[in-house]
Amino acid sequence: MTISQEKRQPKNYGLGLESIDPEVFAIIERENQRQKDNIELIASANFISRAVLEATGSILTNKVAEGYPGRRYFSGCENIDELENLAINRAKELFGAAHANLEPYTGSQANHAVYLTVLKPGDRILGMDLGHGGHLSHGAKFTMTGKHYDCHFYQVDADTECLDYDQILAQAKEIRPKLIIAGASAYPRIIDFSRFREIADEVGAYLLADIAHISGLVAAGLHPSPVPYAHFVTTSTQKTLRGPRSGMILLGEHSAPEFARKIDSAVFPGVQGAVHVHAIAAKAVMLKEAMSPSFVTYQRQTLKNSRILATDLMERGFRLVSGGTDNHLMLIDLSEKGITGKEAEDRLARVRITVNKNMLPYDSQKPTICSGIRLGTSATTTRGFGSEEMYCIAELIDQMLSSEPTAKTIAKVQDEVSRLCHLHPRIDSIYEQDGRKSALESQYQLQS
Ligand SMILES: *Cc1c(COP(=O)(O)O)cnc(C)c1O
Repeated sequence: MTISQEKRQPKNYGLGLESIDPEVFAIIERENQRQKDNIELIASANFISRAVLEATGSILTNKVAEGYPGRRYFSGCENIDELENLAINRAKELFGAAHANLEPYTGSQANHAVYLTVLKPGDRILGMDLGHGGHLSHGAKFTMTGKHYDCHFYQVDADTECLDYDQILAQAKEIRPKLIIAGASAYPRIIDFSRFREIADEVGAYLLADIAHISGLVAAGLHPSPVPYAHFVTTSTQKTLRGPRSGMILLGEHSAPEFARKIDSAVFPGVQGAVHVHAIAAKAVMLKEAMSPSFVTYQRQTLKNSRILATDLMERGFRLVSGGTDNHLMLIDLSEKGITGKEAEDRLARVRITVNKNMLPYDSQKPTICSGIRLGTSATTTRGFGSEEMYCIAELIDQMLSSEPTAKTIAKVQDEVSRLCHLHPRIDSIYEQDGRKSALESQYQLQS
């Protein structure tokens, strides 16, 4: 906040969170500390830069805006229009898209907008099985999507644990879906979007590519882009893309003429209300960061770290689903180690290594137990962890999961986790700021 703004504020608006609500402040402080003290291996997690954080916590939250730039239902939107256009243009440039909608509140909502655009209640969807790596929003039966549409699922091949496009084609011919969804939350391999488009064309379906997990890799050119192939591309922005908790929709040149207007009205007023203007700003900053060479360096390192972690774990006798990884995540099958995913998650939490239990293809355990865990390297890489740290992490996981750890082992692992965290104290280390101390920095004490 500038000095002149400060003067204009009524007195109690000038007070910060700490004095207005010490309870919430204390919780945030504890969470800040937890984030610093833990090794974050949840594949969908990341740390945003201070610039994105500042935009998220800005006064833009105060502005009400409905509709789109130049087509608003409230006045006073001149700055907001400029902001949203800036974000839209950056998204189009970064992803080579002809149309971008930056308003979805989350990745799930972006998917709902696509469903509303091309489906009528009862229409058939073919998406990836939740237990094989798919996402809840692709039609799980207890969700809105599952209740409104006739949802069918493809699985990975039982031997290779990879997508078998011939099998998917055969299934698509049988089911005749109106929409095919390509994209996953727990699939460690490259997805062939052009092949998916061929399948969609053969059965007369629309193709949605949901790149929630891999959008950062796509932006950096390290995973083939679906934009030239899929009728719709949706993504969350808080995962590999390292932005706010939000969503985005992209259309390629081939589909924008038909669907640009339709997708916009499906987002608003179809499934959402007024614009989260602060999130638009944060996404604009995220996109600017993603256009920088250091973002490509970051994604390359994420992939390198993922490969190192996967290889080292396999050398230590862990079985990885599909035998490895091409992206930022991996699935570890623990059934031969005699430990469930749930137990492994809890055991690693005790030494401040954060992971999630995950269903494996053809899993015999319940979803609350699971036979595996999912690991990802996006967050640790943002923090500055490199190859050395990945070898350390593999060893720590091995010590905690390969046999019941003794109290002494647990204490040793905890010390090592502390050492690694202290080695990389800044959770937003990628983006060095210009030395100016922001209001948020002192509020959240992001710098250690
Ligand atoms: C994370 C994810 C989403 C959306 O999640 P939100 O929490 O709504 O942003 C959608 N699809 C896939 C494949 C995901 O992994």
